[in-house]
Amino acid sequence: MIDDVAARADVVRGRIAAAGGDLDRVRVVAVTKGFGADHATAALGAGLIDLGENYAAELTAKAAALRAADFRPAAAGGSPRWHFIGRVQRNKVPALVADVAVWQTVDRAEVAAEIARRSPGSVVLVQVNLTDNPLRGGCPLDGVAALVELAQGHGLDVQGVMALGPPGGPEAARAGFRAVRAAADRLGLPERSLGMSADLEVGVEEGSTMVRVGRALFGPRPGRAPRRPRPP
Ligand SMILES: *Cc1c(COP(=O)(O)O)cnc(C)c1O
Repeated sequence: MIDDVAARADVVRGRIAAAGGDLDRVRVVAVTKGFGADHATAALGAGLIDLGENYAAELTAKAAALRAADFRPAAAGGSPRWHFIGRVQRNKVPALVADVAVWQTVDRAEVAAEIARRSPGSVVLVQVNLTDNPLRGGCPLDGVAALVELAQGHGLDVQGVMALGPPGGPEAARAGFRAVRAAADRLGLPERSLGMSADLEVGVEEGSTMVRVGRALFGPRPGRAPRRPRPP
């Protein structure tokens, strides 16, 4: 699978273009969660310098592995830009600030405050929850404007919004994506992180500027590594 990443990246770009996306405007974030650092290297080799991770420990380990491997950005088209796309735990923020370029999942006041405190002026997106299930992360649509204002008040560089499609397949995401895009437009925010492997066409059709793609680039994801036991 890992040998195919460049070819698969072309397929993903073709899907974006076929959905009406401008390839200069829609960025592909390669989601390496569950895969090894070798997959991150393969993505970079395919010209995908935006990398996404959900878990703090995985992100910092892969970022360190790329540095240790003396990865040469010139061969790829740039240094890796890590996007944090998982639930932000406030106590993990300090460990992440050195590596994260874009915080995509700011969904509550305390998280915005902590990122601003540890890494002033960071680039962030506000995550919107398109379901009624608070466990899925994200703030409700009607709370976006207030959270954006609060984050800006802390000095964060709020560039846009992010959302996951609700369960139910690609078409189930369309109305929510459209509402999220409208919220971004009202707030004057240019970036919309909408769409993953299964629903990137709907994301692009509804104005996505970033698709977050894992399986379409790397194949099926191996099971998540078991958690390390907590120290006593
Ligand atoms: C895992 C994940 C993705 C990528 O999902 P694929 O189906 O592998 O493309 C995108 N966004 C978020 C928030 C994720 O957790």
